[in-house]
Formats: sequence, structure tokens, C-alpha cells
Amino acid sequence: MDLTTLTIKELSEKLRKKETSSVEATKAYLKRIEAVEGKVHAFVTVTPDEALSMAEAADKRLAAGQGAPLTGIPIALKDIFCTRGVRTTCSSKMLEGFVPPYDATIARKLKEAGAVILGKNNMDEFAMGSSTENSAFHKTLNPWALDRVPGGSSGGSAAAVAALECAASMGTDTGGSIRQPASCCGVVGLKPTYGRVSRFGMIAFASSLDQAGPLTRSVEDAAIILQAIAGHDPSDSTSIDTPVPDYLASLNKSVKGLKIGIPREYFIEGMDPEVEGSIRKALDVLKSLGAELVEVTLPHTQYAVAVYYLVATAEASSNLARYDGVKYGLRTKEAGGLLDMYKRTRDAGFGDEVKRRIMLGTYSLSAGYYDAYYKKASQVRTLIKNDFDEAFKSCDVIATPTAPSAAFKIGERVEDPLTMYLSDIFTISCNLAGIPGISVPAGFTKENLPIGLQLLGKSMDEETVLRAAHAYELSGGWLGRRPTL
Ligand code: GLN
Repeated sequence: MDLTTLTIKELSEKLRKKETSSVEATKAYLKRIEAVEGKVHAFVTVTPDEALSMAEAADKRLAAGQGAPLTGIPIALKDIFCTRGVRTTCSSKMLEGFVPPYDATIARKLKEAGAVILGKNNMDEFAMGSSTENSAFHKTLNPWALDRVPGGSSGGSAAAVAALECAASMGTDTGGSIRQPASCCGVVGLKPTYGRVSRFGMIAFASSLDQAGPLTRSVEDAAIILQAIAGHDPSDSTSIDTPVPDYLASLNKSVKGLKIGIPREYFIEGMDPEVEGSIRKALDVLKSLGAELVEVTLPHTQYAVAVYYLVATAEASSNLARYDGVKYGLRTKEAGGLLDMYKRTRDAGFGDEVKRRIMLGTYSLSAGYYDAYYKKASQVRTLIKNDFDEAFKSCDVIATPTAPSAAFKIGERVEDPLTMYLSDIFTISCNLAGIPGISVPAGFTKENLPIGLQLLGKSMDEETVLRAAHAYELSGGWLGRRPTL
């Protein structure tokens, strides 16, 4: 029995029945990482010793009959989550040597639940990108086709799950960075409602958009992880203080009568025919299960990418001001004075995309331009949110493709940032509106590249999103498909 092919649910059952141990499962994953990491490059740091001691502790808990659903399950974290004593780089030279003195709330909660952390996943530097090519360290390759990108910015996390290097991983999503790589790598990716999960200790990119969530092999696994990480955190003033529902309780409820909104603006001419074909088939499956398809309209969709790249870069320019060579990480040695040290450190520490965004953000926030750009973008953001409020009056979830195309070739979009920015055209509005969204595998191109179906829900209604995705997953016929590596 290859333990690395199991879902969290399946492995957890085996652990509970003592058919295997966490140490055994952890060793199986470490072996798998050794075997395929040379091809996939999904990790920045692997921590075998820490993982094995967490596994031993988990086995003790399980032996005492005290395990939670995640106890003993080997997972990985995007290298954006601070981990006490373990280097946290955000895939940036700026933080190459940064060892946090504390855990992100998510890391702490997962550890408390007994999960085993195998290591830290590669990503686009400071989560800026859609292909993981912006990592300062190395590129991650798509396990389905090694000449293609895994998506981004949580590309390492998605690739690691697809390549069976961990049972699940944690990513972050500012404009699509959980859902889009999930779609590219044929795994499930869930972005919860803004504020549902604490951002404490998660290195900030755009604070009003960033949200953490799981990448998993099944929707059920996503629900299991959400259960463990959701909830109010006194350390994050934007986390929402309402009770966490039982996400597994409603998962198997029928979708009969569920209204699925199909936004006119997302099914447009010029769309990739293979993507459109797969999504239409997925919608037929949901219909055959008793869901009702209704047309909805999100009239401000065309402004989403522009609004996002104003809001996100503005917030990034402010958040990244802290990397000045004094407080964290890198400091260049040969500086002639304080100002020169700031400049040299930031020049040496940040990659091109990060610099581009800091410049864009600084520009749109500067006196004289603020009203024309940042303020205007914030106003249009409200209109985009209002569109969703209006649409959700006539439906329970909204279905769209996750990405306009399947995984593209390495290098294909690097020279053309605008084309790269369009990779998130279907995922960005969800972050601007703060609502939850999931990507679930929904077919393959002729070249055997995964395609994802995106389901968006009402604010704080992860339950319905998960239920619809789970129903589709069980009937869609793609569950358990794996790349051969
Ligand atoms: N690709 C988008 C960007 O480059 C989204 C990134 C993200 O969600 N972190 O900003």
C-alpha cells in the first residue's frame, strides 16, 4: 500500500485503526520527496528531523486515543507562513536567512491539531505571480508536464500535493494564488472568506486581499483542514469573530434545488474551447444532480484586473517598506550611510516583479495621483462587491472556469507581465469582494493538462461552496487521477 496516494480522510482512518503509523507515513513522504523533488522542485526547505519528531508525538497521541482528524498527517506549508525556528523566505533573497521566532497562527493551529510539517513550499517571491517563476531560488515544474508551470503564486504547494510529496499543503490567495495553481496541477484549492482564517504570521502582500487556505486531493480534505484553521484570532484584528460551523456535517447534503449562477461576463468569445467544454460538461453534471442553473450578471467584471493591480500594488508598496536592511533579513555590507544601505539592500534583495509592483504602488499612492488611481480603484472595488451581492440574490453559488487556460509553458509569459496578469482574470473578483471560492478538478485537455472549475459563494458560506464542489467531485469522474512522474 502506497501511503502517499491516500487522502487525509483515508490516511487518518488507517492511523486510527493502527493499520499504519504517522512515522511510517512521514517516512513514505520523505522518501517520495527524495525521489521526485529533483524533477518537481516544489520545496524551498524540507525538514525531515522536525517532521519525524512531530510524527512520533502524533503516534503517541493516537495511541492514547486522542487524535484529531489531522493528527499524524504529513503536510507542507507555503514558505510565506512564519514557522518558529524554521527559515521562512517568501522565496525572496530579502528573507533568505530569516528564521522567525514565532509561528503563524495557521502553523500553530495545524501543529496543535497534530499535523506533521514536512517543509516549506516554493512560491512566487512575496506571492507576486501566477507561475512560481518569480521565486528567487528556483522554478517549480508542473508534475503533469515538466515543461509547464504549476501556476502561482502557491505553485510549490499545488505541485507538492499533485506529485504526492505531501498529503495536503497550505497556500495563500490574494488574487487567485490558491485556486489557479490548484487548477493547473489538478488538485482542490480553497480560498476562504476574507477574515475566516487568521493572517497572523503570514507574510503580508496585500493585506485587504490576502487569505490562507488549503490545497488538497479532495474537497472533503479541504473541509477537514478548514475546520482546523478557521476562527477568530485576537492577534489578527481583521479575523471575523463568529462561530465556526461543522464543515463536514453538511458536506454530503444533496445539491438538489441548489441554484448555480452562471455569470454572463465569464463565458465570453475567445475563451479556450477546451476549458469552456470541460466547464460546460461540469455544469451538466451538477444539473443532473438536481442543481438549477441560472444566468446572472456581474457587470463590473471588466474592471477587476485593473482594480486589483492598483489595490494590490498600493498595499504591497506599503507592506514591503519594512524590508530596509534594519529589521529583517538581508543587509548589504558595502553601504556608505543609512540611506545608501536602504537602497542597496532593497536593490539586492528584491526581484524584478517585486520592484515593479513597489514602483506601481508607490506611484498610485503618491500625492496628486491618489484620487485618480487608488481612491478610484477602491470605489470600483465596492461596485464589484455589490455585483456579487446582487447576483447572490438569485443563486447560491456562482460557477466559472478557474483559469482561462490550462498550465502554460515555462518562460512563455515571463517577458510579458500583462499577459501573466490575465491568468487571474476569473479569480481576482472573489478577493476584491472578500467572498469564498474553490477550484476543483473538472477535466483535462487533449494534452492531459488539468482544468479547474471554480465555485464562488456568499460571504462566510464556505459550507455551500464545499457541498457543491464535493457533489461535483463525486460524480465528475476525476477524483484520484494522478500524474505519472
Ligand atoms: N497572480 C496574482 C498576482 O500576481 C495573484 C497573486 C496571489 O494571489 N498571491 O498578484
